[in-house]
Amino acid sequence: MTTATMRALEELQAILGPRGWLAGEDMASFTVDIRGSYGGPALLVARPTSTQEVAAVVRVCARHGIAIVPQGGNTSLCGGAVPLTEGAACIVLSLARMNRIVSVDPLNFTMTVEAGCIVDDIREAAHEAGLLFAMNWGASGSAMIGGAISTNAGGLNVLRFGNTREQVLGLEVVLPDGRVWNGLRALRKDASGYDLKHLFIGAEGTLGVVTRAVLRLHARPPLEQTLYAAVSEPARLAELFALARATADADLTAFELIPGDMVELALRQQPAIVRPLDTRAHWYVLVRLAGRSDITAKLETFFSQAFEAGWVADAVLAASLSQEKNLWTLREEIAPLRRLRGKVLKWDASVPIDAIVPLLARAQECATAIHAASRVIAFGHVGDGNLHLSIWPEGTPGELAFDARCDQIVEAIDELIWALGGSICAEHGVGVENRRRVQGQKTALELELMAAIKSLFDPAGLLNPGKLFNP
Ligand SMILES: Cc1cc2nc3c(=O)[nH]c(=O)nc-3n(C[C@H](O)[C@H](O)[C@H](O)COP(=O)(O)OP(=O)(O)OC[C@H]3O[C@@H](n4cnc5c(N)ncnc54)[C@H](O)[C@@H]3O)c2cc1C
Repeated sequence: MTTATMRALEELQAILGPRGWLAGEDMASFTVDIRGSYGGPALLVARPTSTQEVAAVVRVCARHGIAIVPQGGNTSLCGGAVPLTEGAACIVLSLARMNRIVSVDPLNFTMTVEAGCIVDDIREAAHEAGLLFAMNWGASGSAMIGGAISTNAGGLNVLRFGNTREQVLGLEVVLPDGRVWNGLRALRKDASGYDLKHLFIGAEGTLGVVTRAVLRLHARPPLEQTLYAAVSEPARLAELFALARATADADLTAFELIPGDMVELALRQQPAIVRPLDTRAHWYVLVRLAGRSDITAKLETFFSQAFEAGWVADAVLAASLSQEKNLWTLREEIAPLRRLRGKVLKWDASVPIDAIVPLLARAQECATAIHAASRVIAFGHVGDGNLHLSIWPEGTPGELAFDARCDQIVEAIDELIWALGGSICAEHGVGVENRRRVQGQKTALELELMAAIKSLFDPAGLLNPGKLFNP
């Protein structure tokens, strides 16, 4: 370590105080990602408690050419929040100690929070105020709002309330030179020019450090109910979804697709889950409504019209909280089942809703053409056009011939998703994992504009280097 770097570290330690930084082995959980796939060395983990401290830390790093990796809950699934072995020396900037809910404003339907607030804690605070904060997903008990904003997180309520982008009204951000941009406005309408907050949402910490946010809250619908239906005409999935939308309107909160064989596997693996329906089908849908009244009647109307059209064969309505829970536990069990297969190729893809059925059919054709014994499994949020697509070899998990053809399959499926107008990164972001592949999704002009924005904000390239952009 050079004398200049040692001096920089002393400056950082003085700014942060004795409880505000970690070094040596204490940094272990901050320098490796959640799956143990990515990680690298850091000079120090900074744990500031205020925007002013963040700004002071950033100024010291800018002066000494030290890179900064902003980190929230470190639940990124693409290696976005940890140092890399390549590139400049860096610190991890953990927002975990900036976890105050600054205010809840029920008359304005907003909440102001610091970036290190856990997403589920924000939801709980909104609930206590009789309101709803929409963001919710498998890791929202650990993920922090600054990380969610920086990845434009999706999750379970996107169909009704939109992505994180739609939940953010204002932001405060420390820029790479240490200046603080105060955009903490609580406005639903503002036609005064470029809306800068949108640049930071989904920027994966490459343009600045989010320190506070004004979030949008919603009225809480008192009733919720789910219908589980056996699909008889998968080719008409888009029409089935359109019917649900037309029948339930804004009450529709989820429309999920689940493959029949994964349902059977989940029922075998988890005996506590009760089989919801005796009728066996290749596909099922879960349709959930939340509203003030008539949601059962709307679900019944949806079913009878879909049944008459020949699109569904049978269905069951959750008649109690435990039946409701049973249906969603079944849904949640599907994703982890993929681990049983060893090596599995996975996409979290989005396409226009009417391209979901073509994607399913053509992905199987594509994979089989490269490796005859390939199996495509998909499930996901039809209403968001978001499919979790997996491909694995039939027969022995991790079959060698399949392993040798993985790159070819990945390339072919990426191309297919793009040909259908889709994205290979519907959720989770780009991070390190997808930084090379995502180049193929953007036009030369988009890549040029993105690079220009990056160099305008961060000309020295010190904010989260090696992420989002292909070095
Ligand atoms: C079991 C599981 C289920 C998941 N399900 C979903 C899902 O359904 N939908 C979904 O979208 N994601 C999902 N994820 C991924 C992950 O939870 C989200 O990407 C989440 O938004 C990350 O939040 P975090 O606080 O953990 O951020 P981190 O992982 O710490 O960071 C993520 C990115 O944001 C940057 N960052 C973090 N904080 C800041 C800040 N304050 N300012 C600037 N940049 C910052 C980091 O540098 C990094 O690039 C899941 C993850 C797991 C483990």
